[in-house]
Amino acid sequence: MLGKVIILCAPSGSGKTTLAKHLLSNELFNLKFSVSSTTRRKRDGEIDGNDYHFLSLNEFKNKIDNDEFIEFEQVYEDTFYGTLKSEVNSLIENNNIIFDVDVVGAESLKNYFGDKSLSIFIAPPSIKELENRLISRAKNNKEEINQRINKAKEEMNKKNSFDTVLINDDLNKAKNNLSKIVSDFLINE
Ligand code: ADP
Ligand code: 5GP
Repeated sequence: MLGKVIILCAPSGSGKTTLAKHLLSNELFNLKFSVSSTTRRKRDGEIDGNDYHFLSLNEFKNKIDNDEFIEFEQVYEDTFYGTLKSEVNSLIENNNIIFDVDVVGAESLKNYFGDKSLSIFIAPPSIKELENRLISRAKNNKEEINQRINKAKEEMNKKNSFDTVLINDDLNKAKNNLSKIVSDFLINE
């Protein structure tokens, strides 16, 4: 049976990786993470094929030319992210799928999967708190943090085009609220 699709979208640093892991740990949801492809450098602790498929710019461009992506996006200068058709086709046969993408990617995936998908925007309580989280996560330099803050401001303006908006203030509350939303969609609907 073909699975359903959860599209998580949030400004970088809002907590979507943390929240996605929480959903993935719930066996009842039968969720598998769609591993995106990217040309950005690998961060400490990230594993190729697990967090992302890390590709060179040339490899990524070849896949664009061969029409291998459902969607792709140049999220930051020289940094591409995209969802490979092959990744999704192999997962959706027997699983529900969770995506972690930017606003434009979320829109494309929502158009592609339609009613089979639920798009969820995860918002930080404030831009200041987002900045604090990016600084304490300590995985981006100052310039990257500024890029992410500027992009977050734009993305926050588009949150109302999503099926649901969840504010990630208290982490435990956000986990519980998100589980309820996802359970209603995957299991009860
Ligand atoms: P994203 O995947 O959206 O970039 P992460 O899940 O990596 O975000 O979260 C960014 C940082 O904020 C991490 O260090 C994470 O532990 C922390 N974090 C996530 N949610 C909360 C929260 N509700 N309160 C405080 N810190 C949080
Ligand atoms: P990060 O570099 O922090 O992992 O991700 C940066 C941004 O790229 C995030 O907003 C993330 O959701 C987005 N992103 C990750 N994978 C994809 C993808 O496959 N497609 C699109 N459009 N955006 C993605």
